[in-house]
Amino acid sequence: MRWILMGASTIAAEHMIGAIRSQPGASVHRILSSSPGRAAEFAATHGIPHHGSDLAAALADPEAGAVYISTTNEQHRAQALAAIAAGKHVLCEKPLAMTAGEAAEMVLAARARGVTFATNHHLRCAGSHRAIRALIAGGRIGKVLSLRIFHAVQLPAHLQGWRINDAAAGGGVIADITVHNADTARFLLQDEPVSVVAKMTASGLGEGVEDSAMSIWTMSSGAMVFSHESFTHPFAGSGLELHGTAGSVFARGVMSQSPLGEIELVTAAGREAIPFTRDDLYATGLAAFLAATRGEGAPAASGEDGVRSLSIALAVRKAARSGTCCPVTFPEL
Ligand code: NDP
Repeated sequence: MRWILMGASTIAAEHMIGAIRSQPGASVHRILSSSPGRAAEFAATHGIPHHGSDLAAALADPEAGAVYISTTNEQHRAQALAAIAAGKHVLCEKPLAMTAGEAAEMVLAARARGVTFATNHHLRCAGSHRAIRALIAGGRIGKVLSLRIFHAVQLPAHLQGWRINDAAAGGGVIADITVHNADTARFLLQDEPVSVVAKMTASGLGEGVEDSAMSIWTMSSGAMVFSHESFTHPFAGSGLELHGTAGSVFARGVMSQSPLGEIELVTAAGREAIPFTRDDLYATGLAAFLAATRGEGAPAASGEDGVRSLSIALAVRKAARSGTCCPVTFPEL
């Protein structure tokens, strides 16, 4: 499978080019950037044979079968719709779009065209998250009562651009990290939130967008979820705690792009370290995506998953803005 990268981005450079190249028969074929100069430089740095800034010309290339979109968030929708119309399979970064309705439009277009469309929610590809989900499914913690997600990090200096300064490009910690927490809660609990309350703040790191948020969600099961995300916490570390009637899970360092962290299960029998696989998260996601394009199974996170995680994040932002409890609703798909 030959891939077109849309977006000369950090995530492509740091994780996705390697993840694509780790898959048998997959190669990075072309880089598309809004700047011809940046496209040429990115292609030279990463050994990519083709580069340019013409979307239509890139998509007209019959050798390319798949597109990975990692531009700023407001560009995802138009690029995905163009790629789908050209018959390419599409792996799109989160958040899929600026609104849930736009994201749903992308999913429906892919369905109508018969191509694979997926969301790059990497955390559900982590061995740690899969091990926790297996603990729940295996009844080890009993009935789930609550989930607390700690995802307050320090945004690295090289990423302190549109994310903290540009609402029109989809900046803000809610669009950036709450979507991941939403996907994590959905993946672990196999359930959806029905309502949320929230607070957010802008500490002055950037301009015009929130850089920290805390929210509490009620799931349809009645379980409660607490989600904390930030760009301004250098020493907080990440993780999650899951509490049930028969046990509690303490997972440290697992809200990460790398296969890191540790998991401890506490039950009446005592404390138990839970082992998990340490495969590359993005390569795991790529393998599932490529299998799905061959008709073998489903992507790790579907387009529908991306629509739902975005819907939840937008409900959190609405609740924080309004100071009210907001229902979580999902577009018809
Ligand atoms: P970057 O800020 O690194 O890149 C985004 C865009 O900014 C690029 O497509 C590029 O535009 C432009 N850009 C890059 N470098 C420069 C520069 N020197 N001067 C001017 N413009 C530049 O974004 P990220 O990689 O951090 O994020 C991209 C997307 O990926 C977002 O949607 C984000 O939410 C998502 N993401 C997902 C992660 C995950 O784990 N799933 C992790 C990190 C990000 P152009 O292409 O036109 O050259």
